[in-house]
Order: sequence, then C-alpha cells, then structure tokens
Amino acid sequence: MKPLEEARSEVLSSVGLLGTERVSIWEALGRVLATDVISPEDVPPFANSAMDGFAVRGADVVSAGSVLEVIGDLPAGFQTDLEVGSGEAIRIMTGAPMPPGADTVVRVEETFSEGSKVTVNTEVDVGTSVRPAGGDVTSGQTVFTAGTRLTPMHVGVLATIGVARPEVFARPRVAFMSTGDELTPTGEALGPGAIRDSNRPMLLALLQETGVEPIDLGIVPDDREALRTALDRGAESDVVISTGGVSMGDYDVTKLVLQGDAHVDFWQVAIQPAKPLAFGRIGPALFFGLPGNPVSVLVSFEQFARPALLKMQGARAILRPRLVARAGETLDTDPGKTVFVRVLVEGLSEGVPTVVKSGGQASNVLSAAASADGFAVVPRGTGTVEPGDEVPVEMFKWPESREWSNDR
Ligand code: AMP
Ligand code: MG
Repeated sequence: MKPLEEARSEVLSSVGLLGTERVSIWEALGRVLATDVISPEDVPPFANSAMDGFAVRGADVVSAGSVLEVIGDLPAGFQTDLEVGSGEAIRIMTGAPMPPGADTVVRVEETFSEGSKVTVNTEVDVGTSVRPAGGDVTSGQTVFTAGTRLTPMHVGVLATIGVARPEVFARPRVAFMSTGDELTPTGEALGPGAIRDSNRPMLLALLQETGVEPIDLGIVPDDREALRTALDRGAESDVVISTGGVSMGDYDVTKLVLQGDAHVDFWQVAIQPAKPLAFGRIGPALFFGLPGNPVSVLVSFEQFARPALLKMQGARAILRPRLVARAGETLDTDPGKTVFVRVLVEGLSEGVPTVVKSGGQASNVLSAAASADGFAVVPRGTGTVEPGDEVPVEMFKWPESREWSNDR
C-alpha cells in the first residue's frame, strides 16, 4: 500500500498549469491570480475626512473652546478652492477631500454651532480624522502576489485600486460521472435493489467549491462499452473523475476497462476510507477513478483531486488548513492506515477545540460527513487515540457548536 503523502505527491507531480486569461472582477471570485497585482493608484486617491465635522487648521484647536468662522460646506464627491485660513472652518462630510489650508477635522459631536460660528468643545490633535492619500495602498505597491485565490475581500481591493480585469489562470474543465447499475438519479422512483446516486451531485458541489468548470457525464451503467464512450467523451476535458468500479468486485467495470492501460495505475493507498484509487491519464486528460462509497469519494476527492485541481489553477494554498485539537472520546482506528474520522468540534477547552465523532464511520454513512466540521487525521502507526490526546483536524467548515452559534 502507498502512504498518503507518497500517493499525493505522485498525483501533484503530474499536474501542470493551464493558460491564463483576464476576467472581470464581477466574475473573479475563487479565481487564482496569474501575476502579481501592482496598484496603479493611491488609495485613498486624495486626503479626505474620516468624519462628519469641520475641517480646520490644527493650530487653531490645540486647546478647548476655540470659536471659528464657518466659511463653506463640503460634501463627499466635491472639491473646493476655498482655503481654510486661521480662525476659519469648512463644514465637511466623511469622504470629502480636505480643503486647502486645513490639516485636521473636528468631529461634529465635539462642536456647537450658532449662526456662522462653530465652537470646538475639546482640544484636538493636529491631523485628527484625516485619511491621508495612499494611507491604505500606495501607487506602485504590490498588493497581491501570483497564486492568490481571490476571496470577496480581494475582489473589493481590486475594485478599489481600479483593476477591472485581473489576469488569472484558466479554470480546468472537469468531466465527472457516477458508475453503477444500481444508481438512480434523485427525483426518480427507486426500483428494487436500486439506490440513489449521491456521488454525482456531491461531486458537482465539490467541484464548484474548487473553482473549476464542471461537465456532467451522468450515470454510466456497469457496461464496458458505455464506460468507454463516457471516458472518451471525458478525455476532451482537462480532467476526468469517475466514481465506483475500482475495487475487487466482478462488476468493477472501471477497473476491467482500464486495467492494463499503460497510462492508468490502480493504487491501494494506506488510508481509510478510500483505499482504492485509479490515477493516470485518459488521452490528454488527467484521470481520477475514485471509489464508489460516498464517504470514500469525499475523502479521495479532498486528498487527491482537490489539491490537484487547485495546483492546476496555480493556487499557492492547495491543502485544507489543519489545526491541533483534542479528542473528546476514544478514537479506535487501524494503525496500518492514515484514518480520516468525521468529527465535529464539541467545544473549546482552554482555547483548544475538542472533537468527537459526528456519527457512524462506515464509508457509506454520508450523513456523518454532513454533520462533521472536518476530518480528524489519525496518523498511520497510531491506532487508538485516547480522550485528551492531541489529534490534527482538517477543517472543511466552521463549527456550529455553542461557542460560535447564535444562541449561545
Ligand atoms: P463499487 O466500488 O462500485 O462497488 O461501489 C462501492 C459501494 O458504493 C457500493 O455499495 C455502491 O452501491 C456504492 N456506490 C457507488 N456509486 C455510488 C453513487 N454514485 N452514489 C451512492 N452510492 C454509490
Ligand atoms: Mg459499482
């Protein structure tokens, strides 16, 4: 059996980058920057007021009680040539450019107005409530580096600095299919011996989360010709992912069709669940033959396909973050494998998350994956994790336990 890390590095070493393209920031979420982004502008572009109040000369307000003459009004979006002289003030709104002569803003809450006079009730330091030009980002600054996967905040910053069409890596087209005679699409009645196809909708969702362009090849029956046709269609994409048919059964058609193919390997990876994995190429396309059981699909997608798809998109961060948690109960696992235990964060003990199993751990029990926050990754050679022992947890979502919930 191949250790997890070895299998993953073999997968990753056969993954290359696709080309690059420019996309609108309106469609850039989840895309990966292909080049560094250098700001062409200062942000803010000009010094402006951080508060609604009065633009003044700082020297006039060093002590409380100064009375100033209000010579004008300045809302956001307008500029004035009026110069604030000594003993003068301009009524200014948040975001309006600082008028000539003024270097300080007194908040309206600290003033009392009567007629054209304003009294400043407190002493105010020079420069207060002024946002300097370039205070956030300066022109010429490297704002983001290549390999950054764009979040909503990155999109916001790109908008701020005027980069409307960042250069990003192309999205791989990923064809995916479920195989199995027993599979029925959701929405149709279940015949005798049939089960619902959960892998394909879940795969679609996993692919969407990974930022690729998914292509659904449907449910493929356990029939060599049908599978060959589907695989050939898939080979027109960048990546093909199938589920099912890679184990030892008589009807494991994926294996029957591809065994002996010089470009596809059938691995036994020392992990649980998801031991069998087919990996290689079908034509020019990268191929992942995932197992059939839904939890095995999830684990092998997460451990192999997701990092590969992120690497293909040029992303710097391709693995899920792991944190160190403490077991809240005994986790009994196979010492010969890296075992992925579906866990949820039960709470914090001295700031360290405590995790417990989220439900049954058989590879068909997908419901326990849905209620989990992540996988406790029990290293090979461990076997039993005792309550209180540290265990790495690969988080795929934020916990809903009391510390983080709405009704704590
Ligand atoms: P296989 O490796 O094809 O023998 O599949 C292993 C197990 O996973 C069997 O119990 C299958 O019925 C089940 N399975 C395979 N594909 C799917 C699917 N798309 N959705 C749900 N269960 C599946
Ligand atoms: Mg099957």
